[in-house]
Amino acid sequence: MDIYLDHNATAPPRPEVIEAALPFITRLWANPASPHQAAREPAAAVEEARRAVAAWSGARPRDVTFTSGATESNHAAILGSVRPARPRWLVSAVEHPSALAAARGRGAEVLPVDSAGRLILSALEEALGPDVAGVTLMAANNETGVLQPIEEAHDLCEAAGAWLHVDGAQVAGRVGLPTRWDLLTVSGHKAGGLKGGGALVVRPHVRWEPLLGGGAQERGRRGGTVDVPAVVALGVALSLPVVEVSAHRDRLEVAALELGMEITASSVARLPNTSHLRLPGVQGESVVQALDLLGVRGSTGSACASGASEPSHVLEAMGLPPDSGIRLSCGWSTTAADIDRAIEALQVVVPRCRKVLGPVP
Ligand code: PMP
Repeated sequence: MDIYLDHNATAPPRPEVIEAALPFITRLWANPASPHQAAREPAAAVEEARRAVAAWSGARPRDVTFTSGATESNHAAILGSVRPARPRWLVSAVEHPSALAAARGRGAEVLPVDSAGRLILSALEEALGPDVAGVTLMAANNETGVLQPIEEAHDLCEAAGAWLHVDGAQVAGRVGLPTRWDLLTVSGHKAGGLKGGGALVVRPHVRWEPLLGGGAQERGRRGGTVDVPAVVALGVALSLPVVEVSAHRDRLEVAALELGMEITASSVARLPNTSHLRLPGVQGESVVQALDLLGVRGSTGSACASGASEPSHVLEAMGLPPDSGIRLSCGWSTTAADIDRAIEALQVVVPRCRKVLGPVP
C-alpha cells in the first residue's frame, strides 16, 4: 500500500504531461538553439509552452523566461530586479527558504504574519516607502496552504511604487492565480509537470537582469540549454483542467478533528488540497514516521535535503510550536479510497503517539 499525500513536495506527473514530454527525450532531443533542422521541433515546442504559460498567467509570451524551477525563479526575481534608487526589499516571514535565501542576499527586511500565517498588511504599509524596490509574497504557503492577501498587498505596493513579486509555486494547478503581480514565480512539478521546469514571468515595466549569463538562450535572459521535456511538461500541466480535491481534504480534516488533532489556520482561506494538522504535545515527525510505516506518505512540511525535518520557520512566525505539524497534501492522483486508508492509518497512529507521550500534566 502506498498512499501518496505529499503533493506539496511534488506531484506525480500527470499522464498527459508524460505523453507530451516523452518524444522530447526519445526522438526530439536536439538542442532547441542549434542552427539545424533537428532543432525545429524542440524549438517550436518551447514556444508553444511559452504561450501556454503566458495564457495561464495572463501575460505576453515574451514576458515568460524558462528556469529550472521556483528556487531559481525566486533568486532571479529578487536578485535580478534592478532599481538603483530603491535599495530596500521586503519579504514575508513565511516565504519558502529559497525566497528567504535570495532575500537575505539582498539584505531584505522580514515582515511579520498574523497567527493564521497571513502577512500583516499594516506592517507592509508601514515598511513601504520611496526607497523600497520590491516585495516578495507567496500566493499560497507550502506548509499550511494559507493563501496570502495578494490583491491588497499589490494595492499597497502600487501606491508606494514598489514591485510585487509573487511566488506562485503552490497555486499552479490548484486554484486560480492572483492577477495582480509584477514578477511571478512558477514551478511545473507541483502542478503535475516535471521537476526542473519552471518560469519567471515579468511584466514589461519591470527592469531586471539575468541571474545566469553566458548564453543567448531565452533572448539573453537565462543562459543554459533549455530543458525541453520539463518546459513542455510545464506548459501542458498549466493547460490541464484543475482537479477538484477539496472533498478529500475536508473528509481527512473531519477525521483528524475527531481524533483530537488541531487544524492549522482552519478559519482562513487555504489551498483546497492541504491539511496541516497538529497533535498537541507530539512532534510532527513522530506522526509522519508512524504513518510512513503504514504506507501513508506525508510530511512535516519543512523537509530539508537529508529528508529529516527541521523546525518550521512558518509555524514559528505564526506563534506555534515549530516542530508540531504534519502536512497531508493531496492532488489529482488522490482517490476517495486513498483518503479512507489515510484515515484508518491516522486512527491507528494518533492514539499510539499519544500513549507514548503519556498524560499531559
Ligand atoms: N516556493 C514554494 C512556495 C515552494 O513550495 C517550493 C517547493 N517546495 C519552491 C518555491 C521551490 O520550488 P522548486 O522545487 O521548483 O525549486
